[in-house]
Amino acid sequence: MTPTRRDFIKFVVAGSIAAGCPIDLSLLASPGDIEPQVDGEHFEICHQVRDGKTFAHPPVSKTHDVVIVGGGISGLSAAYFLRSKDFLLLEKEEHWGGNAYREDFQGQGYATASAYDFVASDSAVLAKEIGLEQLPVNFPDPTIINGKWVADTWRGGLDELPYPQPVRDAFKKFRAEMLKLGATKKLERLDSEPLSKYLQDYPPELTAWWDAYGQSNWGAKAKDTSVYVALDDFVEIANEKFEDTRITLPGGNGAITRKLSEVLLAKFSDRMFTGATTISVDPQKDSVNVTYALGGQLQTVAAKAVIMAAPKIIASRIVSGIPDDQIDAMQSIRYSPYPVINMIFDKPVYNRGYDTWCPGNSFTDFIVADWTIRNQPGYKQKYNILTFYTPMQEKDRKKLLTIEGCQKIATDVLTDFKKLLPEFNVDPIEIHMFRRGHPMFVATPGNFTKTIPAARKPLDRVFFANTDSEGPESLAAGGVAASKKGADWVEKRLAGTSSRRAAESVGFAV
Ligand SMILES: Cc1cc2nc3c(=O)[nH]c(=O)nc-3n(C[C@H](O)[C@H](O)[C@H](O)COP(=O)(O)OP(=O)(O)OC[C@H]3O[C@@H](n4cnc5c(N)ncnc54)[C@H](O)[C@@H]3O)c2cc1C
Repeated sequence: MTPTRRDFIKFVVAGSIAAGCPIDLSLLASPGDIEPQVDGEHFEICHQVRDGKTFAHPPVSKTHDVVIVGGGISGLSAAYFLRSKDFLLLEKEEHWGGNAYREDFQGQGYATASAYDFVASDSAVLAKEIGLEQLPVNFPDPTIINGKWVADTWRGGLDELPYPQPVRDAFKKFRAEMLKLGATKKLERLDSEPLSKYLQDYPPELTAWWDAYGQSNWGAKAKDTSVYVALDDFVEIANEKFEDTRITLPGGNGAITRKLSEVLLAKFSDRMFTGATTISVDPQKDSVNVTYALGGQLQTVAAKAVIMAAPKIIASRIVSGIPDDQIDAMQSIRYSPYPVINMIFDKPVYNRGYDTWCPGNSFTDFIVADWTIRNQPGYKQKYNILTFYTPMQEKDRKKLLTIEGCQKIATDVLTDFKKLLPEFNVDPIEIHMFRRGHPMFVATPGNFTKTIPAARKPLDRVFFANTDSEGPESLAAGGVAASKKGADWVEKRLAGTSSRRAAESVGFAV
């Protein structure tokens, strides 16, 4: 493909840049023939809060039982669990879903981030309750290395890896040692050590595999990965008796948030606002004042309790009265910049595996958007939509700030994809890129056992939900688990139980 041809592929860019604070839209002026489209987003107020601007808070105009800040899967599910209460749900973007957000191309759904869920997880139970049938993936992950497609990487595939025999043997030895280590279940110790410590005596091909796998799943290369987190995953994927518990639908976990928002909006649309950026959460003696901007106006409401379902990087900046050591814990959580690229092909290019790993490339893995419905009777795949995961190092976050930076990322992904296998030398008809500046908390050593417990301690009337209250890695199920606890805590607080006892009853230390 010539550069000229590449320029004519329609390139659509959407998503936040900074922590919920997208860039100045003027930066996205379209160069040449490319016509980027950008979701409407709210960033000016967010930037002002970050930069320490103080706002004149209007007087309280309304009261609610509970205000929920953030309309990702955690905030939406909190609203669902608390639907018998007078809740107010505030989301700063123009759409619900946060990192579990589905988009569509001509009626075909695809994920802009969060892809699959697990049988019987908190999110799967909720999905079922609201009438959604997530379907089994039922296919072990392949890897493409050195021009070879290897099925079932960590079991039968180990003999197929296109490496010299000593490297293949090293993969097998590593697998055996890790499974042994995983069986020891020494959680605290393992969570304090980096995975790289266990890779140092192995060939670099192993680190390359884990760098891709870890960055995609928990935002960290091996050197920044808690070995506990790696093992937690590995004992599943490398188990001889592997049972694929993954379930999904087109749109990934965005299918859940879409349905959840529809169910809630049918009854509570007067208490659910998108485009509503919360700028402060101020605990008072017997209530909490929440000030938010909506349609260019600031409003303050009072609530008996608040669930902060926005990530800690934001909560730590807008909630008053958090003890210093807790602020330190919240702000020590690292978040990975993470664009996701969807390539839309008008002919079948790849349908051989759900999630295929590609170590050593500009993307880590890619999934087939309609994998779980592709063989359903009556379904015809009109477009082959492939979702490429392109996690970045934190130091490179600024590359997302310009249209040229984004184009370079997308172009690198397409170039690398085309080189993987001869049959991939095909142009997509469109490329959609969803940019997020800080979407995934990084599973660094100690984050799960030390930082998260210190960061999530509830205040007297403020509960901190969001997936970054759970761990060990960022999962949609974690967002729902946290909101379930938050809803339980709110019920208890409204019934007069002390914050401490309510928190202890859901396993959150205070
Ligand atoms: C690329 C990628 C791939 C992933 N893949 C998977 C996967 O396959 N499976 C899986 O289970 N998980 C996956 N995850 C993780 C999963 O998406 C998240 O754990 C989950 O979506 C988090 O939900 P949440 O509601 O806790 O937080 P978020 O999704 O971060 O939602 C928080 C919401 O708060 C809003 N907000 C922020 N500030 C304010 C404010 N001041 N006022 C009002 N609203 C505000 C935000 O706009 C956002 O909508 C992936 C994540 C990424 C980034």
